[in-house]
Amino acid sequence: MDFDQIFYDLVDLDLGDILENEPMYKHTTFKVGGPARFFIHVKDTEALQRGVAFCREKNIKHMIVGKGSDLLFSDKEYEGVIFSLCQNFNKVSMNGLEIKAQAGVSMIYLAYAAAKTGLSGFEFMGGIPGTIGGGVYMNAGAYKYCFADVFTSALVLNEKNELMTLTKEQMNFGYRKSILQEHKDWVLIEATFTMNPKDPQEIISVLDKRKEKRMASQPWNFASAGSVFRNPEEKPAWKYIDECGLRGYEIGGAQVSPKHSNFIVNNGYASAKDILELILLVEKTVFDRFKVELKKEVILINWE
Ligand SMILES: Cc1cc2nc3c(=O)[nH]c(=O)nc-3n(C[C@H](O)[C@H](O)[C@H](O)COP(=O)(O)OP(=O)(O)OC[C@H]3O[C@@H](n4cnc5c(N)ncnc54)[C@H](O)[C@@H]3O)c2cc1C
Repeated sequence: MDFDQIFYDLVDLDLGDILENEPMYKHTTFKVGGPARFFIHVKDTEALQRGVAFCREKNIKHMIVGKGSDLLFSDKEYEGVIFSLCQNFNKVSMNGLEIKAQAGVSMIYLAYAAAKTGLSGFEFMGGIPGTIGGGVYMNAGAYKYCFADVFTSALVLNEKNELMTLTKEQMNFGYRKSILQEHKDWVLIEATFTMNPKDPQEIISVLDKRKEKRMASQPWNFASAGSVFRNPEEKPAWKYIDECGLRGYEIGGAQVSPKHSNFIVNNGYASAKDILELILLVEKTVFDRFKVELKKEVILINWE
């Protein structure tokens, strides 16, 4: 591929700031990942449409990233375009019990912003370090609540590069599942939520208590992507991992967190390969012992 020509074409398209050979460890909470040939802070929806159309026409690999808090990029170069909405899709509007938030809005920010205005429903988001785009994609959740519980509708760019509105029913939400996972070429631009009125102090107190709980039970001071595996129905993934004696197990700079065994942490010098090897070892060990297939919650990118 003629990446020099592609660079000039991308500049001509006026998409926003374009970074070349941008290390993905700067954009993922695991703090690993090789360089992306192009990393673009897209400036608005029209620019995203132009960028996506260009990549499709030229057959250039491309994807959207939020805060990279669920992603394990490989160490090799991503030979394509990463579109980030974090910098410029940050608008939030509140009208009565309705909140509209663009895809790049931080969940933690939004949870506290809603709380301060007495809007309850985002308490589950308080400790999830992702964006609204990544959150809806994953139907992220905690404390038995998830996006589906407050979601009303979303504005989505579809495979024809047209904007469409999807209702909650059309989102096919399930446990860490949404229709966006079935249509990898769709991009969430904005989501609308319906909240409940509550005393702001009461909501803030719930958020603060949960933050303390997370800090006590999760390795918040190490790079990670949160829970590596989805919880099987029978019992939580961490229990299987513990019962295999893998708590604290290390490969290179990657370690099954001594604090929470469904977290794999980067001890500061892990490669993406270390992390993947450890994930595969955990999967194999649990399968050999219990005949249970742990399913990854973390998403692998650029390993093929
Ligand atoms: C310390 C820690 C704690 C965590 N705790 C929780 C938890 O309690 N509950 C939970 O559910 N998760 C948790 N996570 C995981 C993670 O934060 C969530 O999965 C989150 O929803 C990912 O959001 P993101 O913006 O980082 O998305 P990314 O990781 O950047 O992307 C995830 C996927 O979403 C897609 N995507 C992102 N934006 C868009 C968009 N606008 N349109 C279409 N697709 C898009 C990406 O292409 C990718 O496939 C935790 C992670 C960490 C590091």
